[in-house]
Amino acid sequence: LFEPKDSAVARELAQKVIKLADRCKEKTGVTPAFMEVCGSHTMALARSGIKLILQDHVRLLSGPGCPVCVTDQKQIDAMIEVAEAQNRIVCTFGDMMRVPGSKRSLLSAKTEGRDVRIVYSPLDAVRIAQENPDREVVFLGVGFETTVPVLAAALQLAELKQVENFSMWATTKLVQPVLRTLLSVKKVKIHGFLLPGHVSIVLGEQAYQFLADEFHMPGVITGFETVEMLSGIYKLLQMVLNDQPAILNNYKSVVRPDGNPIAQKIMNEFFTPCDETWRGMGMIPQSGLDIRDQYSHLNAKKKFNVTVGEPKKTLCRCGDMICGLATPDECILFGKACTPIHPVGPCMVSDEGSCSAYYAYMRKE
Ligand code: SF4
Repeated sequence: LFEPKDSAVARELAQKVIKLADRCKEKTGVTPAFMEVCGSHTMALARSGIKLILQDHVRLLSGPGCPVCVTDQKQIDAMIEVAEAQNRIVCTFGDMMRVPGSKRSLLSAKTEGRDVRIVYSPLDAVRIAQENPDREVVFLGVGFETTVPVLAAALQLAELKQVENFSMWATTKLVQPVLRTLLSVKKVKIHGFLLPGHVSIVLGEQAYQFLADEFHMPGVITGFETVEMLSGIYKLLQMVLNDQPAILNNYKSVVRPDGNPIAQKIMNEFFTPCDETWRGMGMIPQSGLDIRDQYSHLNAKKKFNVTVGEPKKTLCRCGDMICGLATPDECILFGKACTPIHPVGPCMVSDEGSCSAYYAYMRKE
């Protein structure tokens, strides 16, 4: 299953992981369970074959780190309402186009004639606003700490160039509050976290110390190569076996103890913490970032009067997927009513979603 370049080392390491996991199970009486917080890890663990190879020895559960998956239906509904008005252009990342809102997606709104465009960077949306001075351009900004500095850069550019017809609908998420909620409110049953590589570049390793100090929960920051992920799992197992939880940095080539101060500075200049609603989890206090009041002229939530109702209840279990409370094969729609061609929920839409990863690499025919 492993790629040839990883093959020998990875196979040996996988055997070591399996042996250690079985020792853990002997000691604790349960199969060790770890949550990969990051959506990129979800896909990399499935694609590499690690999830399949370890499945009888270690439970690897997806967490809340796929930005598309955690975006609430209400935000999609709001963007569609913004796009409904004449003379507006809505821009967003490609993944967001097919995410279902309460009734439809941004893609269906586009098919019906609304001007909804995919951009690769929010800076492109600023450029589109400059090219269309007689139209309002709104960028739907989703993402975690990894993406927020880029969103801030777009706001900075719009401010600098005085692009008055540009604004941003920010629905960004923070990793620390959601991990705290998973452990203290959702009481998710795991033994440790495989911590996100990309977010940690911005936040730094110290950001997770509370997991070990307050929750007795180990965590390993790791990269995305097969060997890096296996070694992260091995280190988690060692900490569980020795009952010595700590936060280890297995991605030192890019993650520093205190993160990236330049990225943190621009984030803090344009954004401030706010309450945020997560798909399937509801509102988590201070778990998102909104545009600071001094830049409210760039804040689409303040610029446009959009009223959004409550999200529609569906059979989709994405809310459980992102809390590690279910696996895709436990959803009755998986592979039947919900497929990558006809996704019912965002976990099947996103390239980082647990359902699309499971469908591509772990589905039983
Ligand atoms: Fe939602 Fe589809 Fe995943 Fe079920 S299989 S949880 S409907 S995305």
